[in-house]
Amino acid sequence: VRKAVIAGNWKMHMTCAQARAFAASFRPLIADLPDDREVVLAPPFTAIPTLCRHLAGAGVAIAGQNVHWEESGAYTGMISAPMLLEHGVTHAIVGHSEPRKYFSETDEQINLRARTAQKTGLIPILCVGESDDQREARETERVIHRQVEQGLEGVDPLRLIVAYEPIWAIGTGKTCAAEEANRICGLIRGWVGHPEVVVQYGGSVNPATIDMLMAQSDIDGVLVGGASLDPVSFARIANYQV
Ligand code: 13P
Repeated sequence: VRKAVIAGNWKMHMTCAQARAFAASFRPLIADLPDDREVVLAPPFTAIPTLCRHLAGAGVAIAGQNVHWEESGAYTGMISAPMLLEHGVTHAIVGHSEPRKYFSETDEQINLRARTAQKTGLIPILCVGESDDQREARETERVIHRQVEQGLEGVDPLRLIVAYEPIWAIGTGKTCAAEEANRICGLIRGWVGHPEVVVQYGGSVNPATIDMLMAQSDIDGVLVGGASLDPVSFARIANYQV
C-alpha cells in the first residue's frame, strides 16, 4: 500500500519569524495524524533551519524548493544537495512550472537535478503539467508523457514522488476535477512503469477539495501552494478523511 504524501510548497513566502509562528500553530493540529500519511513542507531556503528546529519531532519532513545538479561549484545564487542534507532536509522539488517558466528550466536540467537528488539521498518531487494552451490543443497527454520520460531518465521509481500540477490550476482557484486528475495520475504511474511510485495532484488544493481528491484511486497525495501558508488550512488538508 502506498503511503499518502501531503506536501506544502511555500514558494517565496514566509520569513523565519513567520515560519516560527506557523510551526507553533501547526504542531498541535497534526498531533494525531493517522500513520497512513506523511507531511512534507518546502519553505524558502532561508527558513529551513528555523522550520527544522521548530517542527523537530512533529513528524514533518522538510523539502528544498529546488536543488542544483552539481554538489558545489561556481553557480551564484544556487543551493546544492549537501547544503540541504546538512540541515536534515529529505526531499527536493524539481521541475516546478514556475522555474520552468521564469528561469527557462529544461527537461534535461530537471533530469540532472532529480538524479543528483537521488544520488545524494534526497527524494525528488518531480512536477509535471500542461499549460492552458496545451490543454486547449489537446496536447495534455503528449506534454506530460515527455516531461515524465525526459525528467526521469535514469531515476529510480522507488525513491521518487511525481506531482501532476496542471499549470492552469496553479494559484487560480480552479482545481482540476478529481476524476480527470485521477486519470492523469494513473497515466503517469503507467509511464513511470512502477506501481509503487507516489503520484500527487497539485493546483488550488484546499480544505474543501482535499477529501474528494484523496478518495481517488491513483492520487496518493497533494502538493499544496497557497493553502499551505495557513496552519489551520494545511492541518485540515493533512487530516483529510476518505
Ligand atoms: P496553489 O495550491 O497555490 O495553486 O499552488 C500549487 C503549486 O504550485 C504547488 O507546488
